Amino acid sequence: MSSVDTTIRLISAGAIAGETCSPELAKGPWEFDLAPAPSYGPGSSMSDVIPTGSPRQGQLPEVYRTASADELDARIRAAKDALGDRVVVLGHFYQRDEVVRYADFVGDSYQLANAALARPEAEAIVFCGVHFMAETADILSAADQSVILPNLAAGCSMADMADIDSVLECWEQLEARYGTEPDAEGRVPVIPVTYMNSSAALKGFCGEHGGIVCTSSNAATVLEWAFARGQRVLFFPDQHLGRNTAKAMGVPLENMPMWNPRKPLGGNDDATLDAARVILWHGFCSVHKRFTVDQIDRARAEHPGVRVLVHPECPMPVVDAADGAGSTDYIGKAIAAATEPTTFAIGTEINMVNRLAQQYPQHEIFSLDPVVCPCSTMYRIHPGYLAWVLEALVRGEVINRITVDAAVAAPARVALDRMLAARPGQAAERVIGD
Ligand code: SF4
Repeated sequence: MSSVDTTIRLISAGAIAGETCSPELAKGPWEFDLAPAPSYGPGSSMSDVIPTGSPRQGQLPEVYRTASADELDARIRAAKDALGDRVVVLGHFYQRDEVVRYADFVGDSYQLANAALARPEAEAIVFCGVHFMAETADILSAADQSVILPNLAAGCSMADMADIDSVLECWEQLEARYGTEPDAEGRVPVIPVTYMNSSAALKGFCGEHGGIVCTSSNAATVLEWAFARGQRVLFFPDQHLGRNTAKAMGVPLENMPMWNPRKPLGGNDDATLDAARVILWHGFCSVHKRFTVDQIDRARAEHPGVRVLVHPECPMPVVDAADGAGSTDYIGKAIAAATEPTTFAIGTEINMVNRLAQQYPQHEIFSLDPVVCPCSTMYRIHPGYLAWVLEALVRGEVINRITVDAAVAAPARVALDRMLAARPGQAAERVIGD
């Protein structure tokens, strides 16, 4: 089976049938890094412009832009050999095969941050993922370890939908509405919960305001933790993970208003906010938003007996129509547990789906979305950038280091530690067991 990159190139050249979400995906990501109008590039939603203040990647040196795949392969391997244990390369599940093949660890953002912890002897952690992941690795790693993001323009459009200024404005309005005093049971008016896919500043905000971080694996456990301490939850940035998780825990939809940061009171009236149990930030993942119930219906019609597994960043109707929903870890384990040859239709990023299909040839595994559309921000890490940062390390230079200021890192660590300490109770066990 071809890699996603190869498939995109073949489709774009007209050599094979198929559709990509943009012919521009066949270009090198450096073509989208530069002014005059840098954006997240092909595949992202129309509104996913890089926010002001996000780190920008400068021009990748020409030698790396023009090198062949074989040359880059030789350079990366030579640099890794020269560096030995001094470097650890981490690759996210959604990263292209052409980069993941050099990773010492492959996993989701939290697994990778933990993998970095397991290598304290490494001076440099090269994170082949997106910006918030590198920030988390910096928060959790030792002070003398450098975390490097090979392309600074590899952000996450969802994470950028909640910025610290908008969340602070929201918080002020919520405090004005609900006050700050706990109720008779000692529960404060609002507990902030941020998804791992958020900036370090938002994790720090949660740490400072009695809040917590969650991942897609432990969102139910974390919501239960929050409900034990608060009358309601402000959940950001992904509305879908918040809604899908709270709904599975029995929270009625009418008690989950959306907060639109561009509108006063988030676009809600007082009565709606008073009835709120979970206030959902108006954020979403451009990749997971592409999955639809129609695609599930088609998969069921064309593949009788198919098992449909989707990520909880997908919209609620998609999660409801699927046979199972959960994190990348859940999806991987569900496939690994199938003892008989099975057909799986998967609703998550296509690089991961392709890799699962290669890993489990006894099953038929395909993406629900027939259009080839990888995460466009993750796609910004190309072997050229990896060769660039590794060769710099061999020369003793650290480039594209991601550093979280200590004033942000300390409270962010508090919010992350609360997540680590949270244990599932009955409500969360019910959801996790689904
Ligand atoms: S798949 Fe979605 S949430 Fe994940 S990095 Fe890409 S844009 Fe962000």
